[in-house]
Amino acid sequence: MRTVFAVNKPELCHELFEHFAGCNVVHLSSVSELLVYLYAHRLSGEDTFERTLSLVVHQQPQRDSQSSSDPELESITTAELAYLVQKQFPCFSLSVTAPAEVPKALKHLRECASLYASRLARVSTWMYNNYEGCKKPFTGHETHNACQQDETTPNSSSCSANVYTMLSHLTRVRNNSHQSAGLPCTKLISTALNLRDLIILPKDKVSSDHYWKLISTWDFCAMSLSTSELIWCSYLILKKVAHDANFHISDNDLFLFLLSLEASYHQGNKFHSFRHAVDVMQATWQLCCHLKSHFEKNSSILVVCVAAIGHDVGHPGTNNALMCDPISPVAKLYNKASVLENFHTEIFSDLLQEHWPQILQQKTILSDTILATDMALHSQYVQLMDAGPSKLPSLLSLILKAADISNVTRPLHISTNWAVLITCEFSECAALLKSIQNNDIYGHKVTDCDEPIPDCIESILIKYPSIPKGQLLFINAFAESLFAGLAECFQELRFLHNNVQANKKFWEGKCK
Ligand SMILES: [Zn+2]
Repeated sequence: MRTVFAVNKPELCHELFEHFAGCNVVHLSSVSELLVYLYAHRLSGEDTFERTLSLVVHQQPQRDSQSSSDPELESITTAELAYLVQKQFPCFSLSVTAPAEVPKALKHLRECASLYASRLARVSTWMYNNYEGCKKPFTGHETHNACQQDETTPNSSSCSANVYTMLSHLTRVRNNSHQSAGLPCTKLISTALNLRDLIILPKDKVSSDHYWKLISTWDFCAMSLSTSELIWCSYLILKKVAHDANFHISDNDLFLFLLSLEASYHQGNKFHSFRHAVDVMQATWQLCCHLKSHFEKNSSILVVCVAAIGHDVGHPGTNNALMCDPISPVAKLYNKASVLENFHTEIFSDLLQEHWPQILQQKTILSDTILATDMALHSQYVQLMDAGPSKLPSLLSLILKAADISNVTRPLHISTNWAVLITCEFSECAALLKSIQNNDIYGHKVTDCDEPIPDCIESILIKYPSIPKGQLLFINAFAESLFAGLAECFQELRFLHNNVQANKKFWEGKCK
């Protein structure tokens, strides 16, 4: 169901209510309430505002009104609110409009509804649609004028459908970088809200060192954690490494950074979600702890951990092959080279510019390590390691690369759970490819199934019989060579190779 937020008691004439038929109308008395609602919703783990096209109807206050307790956030204009929402919830298709423009905005949203009718339609829209025309490249349907807008500046018309696409995201980021003084979103929000209050954790767990113990071992299982818990674990790791590196960030700013980052990942992705990002950061941090004697500066550990949690930001849940064939507008911009990795780097740098600019002092580490996660470069890394220590690729790139594919080095039950998620994502990609070939993306029905993963491995394998073969293929083609090379170079990392070997043996037994 589409949601309409009515913020600041907008005066809505009676005729409008018939436009809202079938919508969930939420009345909120301030911008702060809207943000709290959206963050809380996000933390609940349902990607509703990514699945539907929703609308905020904002009554712009008088600029001279000082009555609110946090006047700065509450006195922003409707156009500024549109900008702030896009900045903080970049993956949401949430439009912001003034009351007078509601009929036009609702009409636009209705016209764009088919772009979001199913998971495959959404993924295809994110990847392939040129925002300026919202073209449907595979159906020949007519262009949606609704999406023709200048969505990139806070002062542009506030009435238009905001349909998320990767290109619109990137365009926005590129335009922002040319603006010297945009709306200070981070400052406005962190002054008005205590973000820690939004992260709700079981009392008995947060008061003890429960989460600290979880993140301090290689048995870390991101899959068993809620979104709030994932943010909490990330907070603990980043707080520690930032402290060690002498990089100051306040708790409120760190929570806001993590909330904005989480909202920059698509929650509906089976594998490439914030959960994967937190898993990779925990692995990165653990690898750095094992290799501590090899680091001269603690700031390198901080930057590679930050790179890890942002390394897949904005990921569409597909792959570079699908980005390039058929060619997406974003693939064109990057000349088909490391398309997703370049996209993640650019989007993430913008986010850091807003939330933690000090990290960008080491932008080369950030971009080099994220680009190293492109699996097309895998054999180059393995060959460089084989060539001996003098040719060793940057240790930080190797660490993030290893962490990114470290699922197969985790204990078997954790490794198997990740295998389920990647299997589901692969099937979705196969379905997308098939519907592209059949010219039927928008008609193709794929249920947005999020069934729970069975508890025991045997039940998982009954449900997903292709897993043993898939795991063996991946281990033989990629993981074994990388982790063998790492074990050779660093005895501290031998446990990774041993774990891969043990898991490999188990999968071989299942393939007999
Ligand atoms: Zn990744």
